Amino acid sequence: MRICVLGSGSKGNCTFVEGENTRILIDAGLTKADIESRLALIGVNPDSIDSILVTHEHSDHIKGLGAFARAHGVKIFAHPDTWNEMDSKLGAIKSENKIGIYNQDFYINELGIANFDLSHDSRHCLGYSIYDGTKKFSIATDLGFITDSIIKNLADSSLVVLEANHDVNRLKLNPRYPIALKNRILSKYGHLNNQDSAEAVTKMLGYGIRGLIPAHLSEENNTPELVLESLQKAISQAGGNLAKELHVEIAKQHQIGNIYRLKS
Ligand SMILES: [Zn+2]
Ligand SMILES: [Zn+2]
Repeated sequence: MRICVLGSGSKGNCTFVEGENTRILIDAGLTKADIESRLALIGVNPDSIDSILVTHEHSDHIKGLGAFARAHGVKIFAHPDTWNEMDSKLGAIKSENKIGIYNQDFYINELGIANFDLSHDSRHCLGYSIYDGTKKFSIATDLGFITDSIIKNLADSSLVVLEANHDVNRLKLNPRYPIALKNRILSKYGHLNNQDSAEAVTKMLGYGIRGLIPAHLSEENNTPELVLESLQKAISQAGGNLAKELHVEIAKQHQIGNIYRLKS
């Protein structure tokens, strides 16, 4: 499997996953032009994308979805609640390209797809695990808190994209954020903070995780350094050593990330 985060943050999210014969995106929250130009950087023709898995209906996850899917004949997979919220925002999509996910596992050609619920202030929010037969890749962003059941879904993945949205103190002290917005972000239906994210990662160590991509960082209320600090602290408190246990690359908003190859 080949994986590349094309962009992540409150201005747009999109991740590329490629199996032996199948190419998919998870979310299309960048503009169509941005998705196309970032795919070009990794040598991928947008017409070769088979399907897009949608996590939820917020605009930073569906901004380019309708236009990209229409232009390149792509199938869209989303939870029925998400379809209810986003259908009217996408423009015309052929009915055979609109596919509902009813919390069941399914296949897109050779790629096995599992999904799991996340707590967020959208109608529904899904995390995904992608299996290519031997390797597993998982992604969970836009979640107010993390549960043992979510950690179980992420465990055994060689590579995990996990939200590390904000530093709690930095958010609370931010004079530009109204209190209502702070409360929304901090709530059970908001976004995962650095500390909770790092503690979840320590629980995954020992289950085969090799690479971690902290994602959906707030540009205002977080920095890559704060994310790494939280990880270092949580892992050393659990008796581990971050540098020895994990390859970490922070996802960026305005640049694509590294290309990961999970070898069978
Ligand atoms: Zn969201
Ligand atoms: Zn988001």
